[in-house]
Amino acid sequence: MSIPMIMTPGPTSVRENVRLARAIETTNPDLDLEFYDFYKETCDKVGEFLKTKNSVRILSGEGILGLEAACASLTEAGDRVLVLDNGVFGKGFGDFVKMYGGEPIYFKGDRREAINIDELKSFLKKDSNFKYATIVHCDTPSGVLNPVQDICPLLKEKGILTVVDSVSAMGGEELKVDSWNIDVALGASQKCLSAPTGLSFLSISDEAFSAMENRKTPIGSFYCNLLVWKDYYEKKWFPYTPPISDIVGLRKAVDNILEDKRILQRHESIANALRNAITKAGLNLYTRNGYSNTVTVIEVPEGINSKQLTDYILKEFNLMIAGSFDFLEGKVIRIGNMGENATKEKVIYTLNALQSALEYYKINLKANMAKEFIQNLKINY
Ligand SMILES: *Cc1c(COP(=O)(O)O)cnc(C)c1O
Repeated sequence: MSIPMIMTPGPTSVRENVRLARAIETTNPDLDLEFYDFYKETCDKVGEFLKTKNSVRILSGEGILGLEAACASLTEAGDRVLVLDNGVFGKGFGDFVKMYGGEPIYFKGDRREAINIDELKSFLKKDSNFKYATIVHCDTPSGVLNPVQDICPLLKEKGILTVVDSVSAMGGEELKVDSWNIDVALGASQKCLSAPTGLSFLSISDEAFSAMENRKTPIGSFYCNLLVWKDYYEKKWFPYTPPISDIVGLRKAVDNILEDKRILQRHESIANALRNAITKAGLNLYTRNGYSNTVTVIEVPEGINSKQLTDYILKEFNLMIAGSFDFLEGKVIRIGNMGENATKEKVIYTLNALQSALEYYKINLKANMAKEFIQNLKINY
């Protein structure tokens, strides 16, 4: 199998020390008490990364499990849940709410723009009777970054619990769970953290745990039940056998991130120079404001579709970039400039490939994108 360079917005490429960590000899994680400490320390490190003192749980399943577990654990029949919907993942939260018997109330925002705080304020003046709200930090299919730092404190003022999907933002964008009032923050291994796919993790506030414990009806799931994890450490009992190699790999990936003191500046600088190169060439970014520094979403020029470009780039450059899905299917291409992907060399290679593909399809570009990128990159990552 010839592995292409994966410049996709998750999964991202995995550093060698993470791959090697996954290969070490493993113990029985249910019976070996030392593993309980290792798991707990790993959760605490994830908490450090998320800037929270709340307890963290790592679950055995990729990112979607975290979204469903939060909704399953918090939702009871008839609960009203505010779903902030300005993208595919934003809207999708409503389906999990419904699945567990809740009533999603959608606050809709422009698909190309960040959630507008003033509009949200006036919405909440009329109606704020919600048990919790769901917010997507970066809605990856469109690349829109939402101002979680303003949204969550506003919701908490109204007594609404906050659930934030930061799967594709954390690590590349600032995320301060405690000072931003986030009750449940969820992430996954395969985006900026740059570990292989397979794990999701959540930080859970005491208030969120209380809401789960004070339910009138039991949580309608075992695998998605966050309460079954509550006292694992005291009881030395895991609800199911943890995937030990995945967790050892994640631990190394978190260590990599915690050591990387300039990680946010790196993402910002790479993403800015990349967006600048795209627009200098005469291409359009999909997003109008609220650009995430983790993914770059570019409109496909008239006359061609995303698949032609991604196929050409894979065949000629052994490089994978992504199209998108849902309402953006065929219309945009996405570069995942996140985590291990966010380096100067990889972005230059990607822009050269994209330039060739567009030229092959007779699209006139106004600039050499790789050259523009290099000129605008302030810090040499
Ligand atoms: C990637 C991602 C997820 C997890 O979905 P996958 O099935 O792992 O791709 C959840 N939310 C967001 C915003 C994501 O980008």
